[in-house]
Amino acid sequence: MSQITDNLIEIKRTLPQEVTLVAVSKFHPLECILEAYSAGQRVFGESRPQELYSKVKSLAQMSLPEPVVWHFIGHLQTNKLKLVLPYVAMVESVDSLSLLDSIEKWAAANPLEDSSQRHIKILIEVHIASEESKQGFTPEEAYSLLSSENRWPHIEFCGLMGMASFTDDEAVIRSDFSRLTSLFDSLKTIKGQGCISDSFRELSFGMSEDYLIALGMGASIVRIGTSIFGSRI
Ligand SMILES: *Cc1c(COP(=O)(O)O)cnc(C)c1O
Repeated sequence: MSQITDNLIEIKRTLPQEVTLVAVSKFHPLECILEAYSAGQRVFGESRPQELYSKVKSLAQMSLPEPVVWHFIGHLQTNKLKLVLPYVAMVESVDSLSLLDSIEKWAAANPLEDSSQRHIKILIEVHIASEESKQGFTPEEAYSLLSSENRWPHIEFCGLMGMASFTDDEAVIRSDFSRLTSLFDSLKTIKGQGCISDSFRELSFGMSEDYLIALGMGASIVRIGTSIFGSRI
């Protein structure tokens, strides 16, 4: 059995059935995706628009029995929307108001083929790490945005995404994650208001090094790359 298949089996063993595993395939070639696909994996994550787009196009020529489900997890520039939005099930990394507004505008201008209205599923990315460099809304900004009047009729607000500080100090990781879970809990108490509907139920946190902690703290989506595909070159 191949390494990727082995890794997936090991990880799946630790995941409750209701948790979605996003296999983060960024920087890895198509063959790796196909191997994971053969092992039963269907949900994949990419962080660069052009790379996602070329993988989507290559896979389209292979007529796979079931579609690959893509999550976009990286910084998305507004001039790259057309490479991403037609192809992904979810944008997990909406990290600014201007991106939100641009996605709304794109979706309004690009109805589905049967001319029905498009609803783009998104997560709001929250900055919970101590590093300045990570993207996202502060918890306060995210609360204020999501509790305010919903001005984005073509967007489906599905939950929150976050990334812990780059450290192996478990206490720091837990404290970062708890900023995300408490924000999520307080937003759930205002269901029916602002942008919080029944769709708002996903909490995406946890990567190769910290997903077991995330599972214990209520993650509904984990995004794992290295532990499945090996290190990125
Ligand atoms: C790359 C990436 C991951 C996966 O990280 P690993 O440590 O390789 O598991 C998860 N989430 C985001 C947003 C990423 O960019």
